Amino acid sequence: EATIAKIAAGEIIERPASIVKELIENSIDAGASNIVIEIKNGGKTYIRVTDDGIGMNEDEVEFAFLRHSTSKISVAEDLLNIHSLGFRGEALASISTTCMMETLTRNISSNKGIRVFLEEGKIIKKEPIGCPEGTTMIAKDLFYNTPVRKKFLKSDLVESNHISDVIYKLALGNPGISFKYIKDSKVILKTPGNNQVKSNIYSVLGKDFIDNLFEISYYDSDLSIQGYISKNDFYRGNRGHQYIFVNGRWIENIELTKIIENCYKSLIPINRFPIFILFIEIEPSLIDVNIHPTKQEIKFSNQNKINNTLKQLVNKKLKDIISI
Ligand code: ADP
Ligand code: MG
Repeated sequence: EATIAKIAAGEIIERPASIVKELIENSIDAGASNIVIEIKNGGKTYIRVTDDGIGMNEDEVEFAFLRHSTSKISVAEDLLNIHSLGFRGEALASISTTCMMETLTRNISSNKGIRVFLEEGKIIKKEPIGCPEGTTMIAKDLFYNTPVRKKFLKSDLVESNHISDVIYKLALGNPGISFKYIKDSKVILKTPGNNQVKSNIYSVLGKDFIDNLFEISYYDSDLSIQGYISKNDFYRGNRGHQYIFVNGRWIENIELTKIIENCYKSLIPINRFPIFILFIEIEPSLIDVNIHPTKQEIKFSNQNKINNTLKQLVNKKLKDIISI
């Protein structure tokens, strides 16, 4: 049973960045307006995620670490109508079998908090504690109990780059939440959380980007595409700065990526990669997010419409930009 749990955990928890992602997504699902992430040594020795979301009461904390326990789906048909980021109830169960965990949490309707310590996925200590409303999750000493897996972790630098990537994507996709990211005691990122897409991009990616991005915008009753595409001479050597968010969730969709790239290629023959940040809002029942274990690929049931709309939008904007 313990072995099976560890194998299953390995599919979700590959590296420190996987833990950071799952914990932040839980904070977002909990309705947080402020999320603070602190890591040490590439997240290998220490990860802390603190939020000011709804928090948990005592029963909920105990339930949270059990496999397939989720508060986010109550009936089967909810699976077709997913608004929250998590829905499998596997993340905390998995994380807690791969490292030492500590949780402090206080539900908004409770006047005191609770602290639990976990080892090998089990609560080993539980006590009342004074703490603000919201939740703090601490994950220490990743893979202390699976030395083979620990050996496969990369350098602190490589692991912290993976973490930064996760945080930047979540911060970009959630302009209404303020993110603060502390790496080895240094503040690396602080976003305003004021719901201003442009000032959010500015704080995550920097001024260079803002100056070279142009806004695109489309909406009708069942689809909205908002975002920014880069000037025709503002390229990168890889796809690292191409972002697609669907209902706030960062996704990969090679079809959409190729459509945008082809718009550029048809105007300027170049072998580099345009930059774009797209926010697609769509009826949740028109997407299937349940096709990939880390939930980064989705299927659209109206992919053709999205493809065509995006192609027209980008083509038109590029022609405007070029004629400037
Ligand atoms: P899922 O996100 O798929 O529901 P998780 O294992 O990530 O599964 O979390 C299990 C449950 O723990 C969640 O459904 C939620 O009820 C609770 N939970 C986890 N993190 C938080 C948090 N930061 N604030 C409030 N509740 C949380
Ligand atoms: Mg989750």
